[in-house]
Amino acid sequence: MRALISIDYTNDFVETKAALTTGSAGQAIEEALVEVTKTFTENKDFVVYAIDSHDTNDPYHPENDLFPPHNIVGTTGRNLYGKLADVYEETRKQATVYWIDKRHYSAFSGTDLDIRLRERGITEVHLVGVCTDICVLHTAVDAYNLGYKIIIYKQAVASFDPIGHEWALNHFKQSLGAEIIE
Ligand code: ZN
Repeated sequence: MRALISIDYTNDFVETKAALTTGSAGQAIEEALVEVTKTFTENKDFVVYAIDSHDTNDPYHPENDLFPPHNIVGTTGRNLYGKLADVYEETRKQATVYWIDKRHYSAFSGTDLDIRLRERGITEVHLVGVCTDICVLHTAVDAYNLGYKIIIYKQAVASFDPIGHEWALNHFKQSLGAEIIE
């Protein structure tokens, strides 16, 4: 059994003038990301939207010192970007579509994702979204440590750091045993 984990494809990470944008790199993956998401959704595979959720002025969050404020609860910056927003809106009531608010990079950190996957007998996680070398990477590392097989869609991941993007793609394959779909 397989699941798609769609990571952080929100306005704050993709819109041109957004807080923490991947810019044209992030915008360029929209079609591919939406296609993969539609395929999984139509196939009734488990589709997880794992989305950064930050509070304003959270004094305890380590990202405060690392990044500008982003994906703040209640702001449009946290809405899904472009056509992915439409796909989610059309399918959100399906039993196989699941939204997770995450506080850290990894979709597994402090969430019930591992339980949701295991109770469905899912052994394979397919990852799309941003950023390749931050939230996708940390999710992949946790998936690896929890024993999941990992599949990465090269055309549906992006970063604001091209070197980090390339490094992460190599790391997925060489160190996490991931399959890279070109
Ligand atoms: Zn964040």
